[in-house]
Amino acid sequence: MGLGSGSGSAETSSLMSEFLRKTGGSAVVDGGLSTELERHGADLNDPLWSAKCLFTSPHLIREVHLDYLEAGADIIISASYQATIQGFQAKGFSREEGETLLRRSVEIASEARDNYYERCVECSSNGTGDGRILKHRPILVAASVGSYGAYLADGSEYSGNYGDAITLETLKDFHRRRVQVLAESGADLIAFETVPNKLEAQAFADILEEEDIKIPAWFSFNSKDGVNVVSGDSILECASIAESCKKVVAVGINCTPPRFIHGLILSIKKVSTKPIVIYPNSGESYDAEQKEWVQHTGVSDEDFVSYVDRWCEAGASLVGGCCRTTPQTIKAIYRTLSTRSAAALFQ
Ligand SMILES: [Zn+2]
Repeated sequence: MGLGSGSGSAETSSLMSEFLRKTGGSAVVDGGLSTELERHGADLNDPLWSAKCLFTSPHLIREVHLDYLEAGADIIISASYQATIQGFQAKGFSREEGETLLRRSVEIASEARDNYYERCVECSSNGTGDGRILKHRPILVAASVGSYGAYLADGSEYSGNYGDAITLETLKDFHRRRVQVLAESGADLIAFETVPNKLEAQAFADILEEEDIKIPAWFSFNSKDGVNVVSGDSILECASIAESCKKVVAVGINCTPPRFIHGLILSIKKVSTKPIVIYPNSGESYDAEQKEWVQHTGVSDEDFVSYVDRWCEAGASLVGGCCRTTPQTIKAIYRTLSTRSAAALFQ
């Protein structure tokens, strides 16, 4: 991107504001990856979860990214949430192979973006042929970084309880190399997702500064009560850590039931002026012991989307979906945001 390389922190800090200026003030983030991979036939029964597909079926990941772009997503998130060098090593890969797989996650997303632009050129109407949204527009690739709990694959990213043995330094050592590799992978930004406590938020902020990471990031926390993040740490404290890091260009909430989002946006706004990113789950409850989503406990796509106007009015500018949301959810968000920006033009 940008004019020339090495232009440093000015360009890093303006990436999201520039992007949002081009998109008219709001943008669509993609939706759940793993449910869609399974729908395409992938077997995710593995501690690496969706990251397993990086070496078993990368073409399926690319298809899902394309599905989301054709549903209107302006930002796609790489399949590296549960991809860690340590996790790949536990599978018998070397350190170098693990790093290659991390880079591969971003390359696959970038390939999907290239394929999408080709399809836009082929579709001369520049419109929405057969329900697909084929419209040339700025698209960002975000490299996903899941929490330490996601690597443990024991559901602890939903408790935020890592035990006393885990310190700030442990977390920094765990994440450092992975963040460095993803930052050099061609991604536009890093999405630190499902951050369950303030200790890990601080670890990410420290890594961004200490390692002089050249691309910006967003911090996205998760909550199960609409007041605090899942560990019980205050959302105000967590968002403040994001606010004070220059390299963080958006802060928000993901993998949290839709009904909690509005209040959390208002809380974040008390301590942050950065763009707010929101990508809730479908509202279904997750059974950490069974490692599966409990069917029929969530909200429909229509209900999900009925929240979107309220979230935008409260201050969200990036909206998408997390677990159990689909391209249908994202298409509905796209329509809502398009209607809003068209209405704003006529005001
Ligand atoms: Zn999720």
